[in-house]
Amino acid sequence: MHNNTGLGEKEAKLELLIMGALPKAVPVAFIDVDTQKDFIMPYGCLSIPGSECIIDNLAKLNSYASNHCVLWIATMDSHVLEDEEISSEPDFKDTFPPHCMNGTAGEERIAATLRSTPLILDVQTEPLEKLWSFLEDCYDSVVFKKNNFDIFSNKNLDQFLSLSPPHVFVVFGVATDFCVKYAVEGLLHRNFKVIVVKDAVFAIDQEAEKQLFDQWQNEGVKLLETKEIMDLNPDEFEQLFS
Ligand SMILES: [Zn+2]
Repeated sequence: MHNNTGLGEKEAKLELLIMGALPKAVPVAFIDVDTQKDFIMPYGCLSIPGSECIIDNLAKLNSYASNHCVLWIATMDSHVLEDEEISSEPDFKDTFPPHCMNGTAGEERIAATLRSTPLILDVQTEPLEKLWSFLEDCYDSVVFKKNNFDIFSNKNLDQFLSLSPPHVFVVFGVATDFCVKYAVEGLLHRNFKVIVVKDAVFAIDQEAEKQLFDQWQNEGVKLLETKEIMDLNPDEFEQLFS
């Protein structure tokens, strides 16, 4: 026998589990990018001015996902002082003052995007078995921690998506011109279909957001409003791309 036979069996079992346990999670997945107190609340360490205006829409997307059993993927900025992005003399392009520091209240999600039973995956690569536990232990969401702009720097995300990739990804959160940008472009690079919820994202630079919206549309991204998302059934998202 080949020594990789066991892994193949595990993957096959996992696919069956996904098909059985999360039948409605497969057509579409929501990606909630960094909706954490330090970014969105006015008292946050790196508060994005005006971003509170998306909170109501974030809450609507959360309810929709709960009601329709949509796979909910979240990313979570989480830093220690030694991280490259953190600086006492930040340029606000590549470096920022301390924010979302590990273990602080600012690192927590805002109430609108809290889920009751998240599986939280740190940046170190986890064994496939831990990703299985997402299905076996009834988690309602999976959270990928990261310590830079790129959500795919957490290698568990690629591993997780390779198990049974959703047909369409719906992306929202903050900031449009930083981590949301990396999420959208990382998904496009992997040839996934992407919807950006334009009234549930918020940028640091509003002009940059307009340019990104134009660029993404040219690259095949669909820009929808929250209410348009709410009017679709999970099976209908993919039809927007046909
Ligand atoms: Zn950060």
